[in-house]
Amino acid sequence: MNIYQSQLKDVKDDLITLKINDIGSFQSELRRGYIAFDLTPHTPDKLSDVQRRKSYAMIHDIADYEGYPDDIKKITLKEQFKGVTGYPDFSLSDCKKDIATAFIAFLVEYCFYYDIPFRFKDLTNTFDTQRQVFLCLVHKRCTVCGADERVEINHEDSVGSGLNRNHIDHRQHRLEALCHNHHFEFHTIGAESFAKKYHFHGIKLKDEDIVSLKLMSWKQIHEFDEEYRRNHK
Ligand SMILES: [Zn+2]
Repeated sequence: MNIYQSQLKDVKDDLITLKINDIGSFQSELRRGYIAFDLTPHTPDKLSDVQRRKSYAMIHDIADYEGYPDDIKKITLKEQFKGVTGYPDFSLSDCKKDIATAFIAFLVEYCFYYDIPFRFKDLTNTFDTQRQVFLCLVHKRCTVCGADERVEINHEDSVGSGLNRNHIDHRQHRLEALCHNHHFEFHTIGAESFAKKYHFHGIKLKDEDIVSLKLMSWKQIHEFDEEYRRNHK
């Protein structure tokens, strides 16, 4: 699947004229019988300096880990990205903002998937924060610093000390993965200051994620569901 870039030229009632960037391959789509296309709006803005720096930093961290020179790894990562997403060729010197956003997302997912350490600096400015919190929970990395040692799962909404800690429905709590130091900081400065300082909140997980993280078993989940049903009668 290819993604084409186009510029609006004219609008008459519900008929629009678009100038397309790659008419050659677009015509070959038409010849193959495709006549319906999706349109997605996007801003014509160029990528930001932060996005450019973050892209190069991520490429460097991946190349370093896999043992390739940065420029070689950059080419293969861009090829993979284009293959997966269908975006046309682009340059990190002047591509559109949305391509940079998608490319950084690809690099971040790549690092989580292959367990590659990378610097978390600027991640909250360049990547979907909710997704970051989720990936850190699933791959057991600290959401603040990316550390993968002594990672603990924190309940953002405090679990009262009076409650039986073994009888907690983790699905009802916003969760986040934190290293020992950041977990300590969370409890030292409090949930509100922590969220203000690091710009993220914990997220609620789906049943299957809760089970695969071994926070609860299916048996416990079913027991809670049974309990809710009884209480609602
Ligand atoms: Zn940390």
